[in-house]
Amino acid sequence: MNNGKTGAVFLIGAGPGDPDLITVKGKLLLETCDVVVYDNLVPDELVVSLPYGREKYYVGKRAGKHCYSQEDINHLLLKLALEGKNVARLKGSDPLVFGRGGEEAKFLKKNGIKFEIVPGLTSGIAGPEYAGIPPTDRELSSFVLLVTGHKAREKEASNVPWDWVARAKGGTIAVYMGVTEINRIVSTLLESGMNPETPAAVIERATYPSQRILTASLKTLPSVVIENKIKPPALFVFGETIRLQPVVEWLSHKPLLGLRVMITRAADQSQDMYRNFRWLGAEVMTYPTIATVPFHDRAAWQSLREIRSGTKWLAFTSSSGVRNFIDQFTENFGDIRRLAEYRIAALGSGTARILSRYHLQPDFIPSRSVVSEFAAQLCDKVGGADSTVLRVRGELSDKTFERILSERKLPVLPLTVYRTLFTEWPDDFKDKLFEFPPSVIIFTSATTVDGILKNMSIDEFRQLAQQATVISMGQATAARLRQMGIKIALEPRGQSIQSLIDELSRHLKSER
Ligand code: SAH
Repeated sequence: MNNGKTGAVFLIGAGPGDPDLITVKGKLLLETCDVVVYDNLVPDELVVSLPYGREKYYVGKRAGKHCYSQEDINHLLLKLALEGKNVARLKGSDPLVFGRGGEEAKFLKKNGIKFEIVPGLTSGIAGPEYAGIPPTDRELSSFVLLVTGHKAREKEASNVPWDWVARAKGGTIAVYMGVTEINRIVSTLLESGMNPETPAAVIERATYPSQRILTASLKTLPSVVIENKIKPPALFVFGETIRLQPVVEWLSHKPLLGLRVMITRAADQSQDMYRNFRWLGAEVMTYPTIATVPFHDRAAWQSLREIRSGTKWLAFTSSSGVRNFIDQFTENFGDIRRLAEYRIAALGSGTARILSRYHLQPDFIPSRSVVSEFAAQLCDKVGGADSTVLRVRGELSDKTFERILSERKLPVLPLTVYRTLFTEWPDDFKDKLFEFPPSVIIFTSATTVDGILKNMSIDEFRQLAQQATVISMGQATAARLRQMGIKIALEPRGQSIQSLIDELSRHLKSER
């Protein structure tokens, strides 16, 4: 925001992959800065979960397209700060460990721009720990070396004293950026006298549920890397503590390990879903096809003010409805206590859960989580025609509810509090999707289904869906999927994330 002042740049470490590994400070800054500039090793979820419309720049590598050079990045940071914006410069793992954050800091200092450094967990420490390899151990390892494998091929271009590294016994050595150089690294270490039987490990995609850990000896490591087609990002680890790995490893016990779950609903409503799946070991693929933004229906709020008599009911059918309503209610009426005049009806336990975050208890929840049932049962509950039901809705919500109430001659006032927009995925998202396709795809509304077609053709969608377990929540969602010829594997009966996960687990077991 340009108020004549210059902005500041925050060099933030995002952690190595698991989005929960960013620091509290990093996350707070990410959420509040005006603009985000991020690299390719930054976990997608951190960027996808930013509020809709946040200014952001991807400055990582992209195949066959224009890339930002370090100089371009420096100048972009400068330009944004001079525009008065606070910039979150988000980098993979730690910003200054093999991250070139130091160069950006120097450049900013030279140009008089304020900056702060927010450390992150470096992959060379966090990666082994997620793999069950302690970096230090009282008996086995008394130091840790973080080494770059970059340019190991051109001995003269590398500043690493490899012959010295080879003699560094009694510690743990983590080699970054070494995948293409592994043959050269290992032969240099062997030539310099390192024991060929030294325990070695490679950790690919560390801290993601899809991380792979392969153990070997120094001598056999290159063939293990080739046979298993290891791809970056990957780390090599050498040292005796690798022997502890079978005992210390902890990730492989997670029940949903191996599942790749694509979640299409709006990111700001999906945080619990992302986290629940991830904590159980699933790889969460954050592919929101829609986003919700507030919508202010001034005429409807005015009509609400003019209701003088009878009981007023609020009918909520979604968490976005609840959140936006509460925000707008307090903007309009100033004081949350004015809500005491209303009775509250909520469809589904997810909606009720969001209400409980505001310390509100619904007076009525229908026995089945279907809009038509909700409307019919609410009619019986509300009774007299002097009552008014406020239907809190999104712009695209269907009109079944209003229709049923009108048929029963009950006054209903639709109050639109949010709009749904289709989101366009960043450039590289679609390629990644087809390279590593999901094993489960979750749709939570008909609009999430429509939204997917803003990002791919119907044939591509069918191809993706054919190889996956498609989960559909809600009747309208299922209808839309069927219209498109998509086979639905599961329509969970419950509405909560827990029941979704339970039903999915049962379904997958029965398929085996
Ligand atoms: N600043 C980063 C390093 C960037 S250099 C840090 O502090 O870790 C890029 C290298 O980091 C990769 O080639 C790989 O060796 C390592 N790396 C980063 N993230 C990784 C991950 N999730 N799994 C394995 N290695 C990773």
